[in-house]
Amino acid sequence: MSGNIKISSVDIYKADIQLKEPFRIAIMEIVSAMSIFVKVNTDAGIYGFGEANPTWAITGETQAINFAGAVDLARLLIGKDPLNIEERNQELGRYLVRNSTIRSAFDIALYDILGKASGLPLYAVLGGGKRSFWTDNTIGIADPDYMAEKAVGFKKQGFKAIKVKLGTTKVQDVERISKIRKAIGDALPIRIDANQGWDYKTAVSTLKALEPMGIEYCEQPVAHWDYENLRRVRQNTSIAIMADESLFDHHDAFKLASMGCCDYFNIKLAKAGGIHNGLKINAIAEGAGIKCMVGCMLETRLGLSAAAHLVSARPNIRYADLDGYIPLKEDPVLGGAEYNIGEIALPDTPGHGADVDPDFLARCECTTID
Ligand code: MG
Repeated sequence: MSGNIKISSVDIYKADIQLKEPFRIAIMEIVSAMSIFVKVNTDAGIYGFGEANPTWAITGETQAINFAGAVDLARLLIGKDPLNIEERNQELGRYLVRNSTIRSAFDIALYDILGKASGLPLYAVLGGGKRSFWTDNTIGIADPDYMAEKAVGFKKQGFKAIKVKLGTTKVQDVERISKIRKAIGDALPIRIDANQGWDYKTAVSTLKALEPMGIEYCEQPVAHWDYENLRRVRQNTSIAIMADESLFDHHDAFKLASMGCCDYFNIKLAKAGGIHNGLKINAIAEGAGIKCMVGCMLETRLGLSAAAHLVSARPNIRYADLDGYIPLKEDPVLGGAEYNIGEIALPDTPGHGADVDPDFLARCECTTID
């Protein structure tokens, strides 16, 4: 079919969804998930949907930046073969070198088209199998007692792991985990994420204090650029270290693995630029003996469905942190990954299986490039 199908137009939507409550991490606070949805249409009548959820303090992208960027990227794609994902990604990556999140929306849409054109669910397009798996649920930074109360709620709901945002001071962060651990008992693993909030000394001393509290791993203890101290933190704590903001694409993966900076990689489509580069990161991880997690920003089930197919297709991806849609007030997505509390099940419909409610789209600011 390749060569016989061409991209005819792209619809770009500003998709705003309020959060149930503000979500705070060490480096930013979010009150509304302001995504961009792209619908890539072809002359064969097949379309693909993708999502970009910009987190400005991590990727340098906002909804306004990504809306403008999507217009430019769409113009590059008109008339081109959507099935040649390697070449399309090369073009997008050469044009907007740093804007990985908006590039990921197009990459996801192209994989959706490939799945629909071949009649296969995305996990099969990726050469993988179907498995159900669990996501954790995340607690943002807040008062320690409130965080403990939330943790108890997540445990009662049936989540199998709880992720906790940290990265303020050692005293506060240790109090948060102590209270949460006391409230939920010893059965559930706690994953922590400092989001670059600590310096080297704070990281080591805080992690030392947390070592007896059943911590599964710690994401990004120090600044994203500080590879040397990421490596030193790992050497000086028994808690496993996961690179997140330090890891965008496969080039970062190679450096982190070569330097021995971390035990785990957190792959996010919004940082990698999509599934295509996510696969490259996972391949480097496998070569280096590193297991991966696939994480998320605050995507709806559209972006999360694409990420879930990647998890399903690659057993080297041991963990999933795909809880981005849980704090959203609205779910405008039809089909796609289904959530039973934290257990994620994938559909067998071709592509990623997620579509968007036309009534929701009708309320969104939209532009079409053709
Ligand atoms: Mg993280």
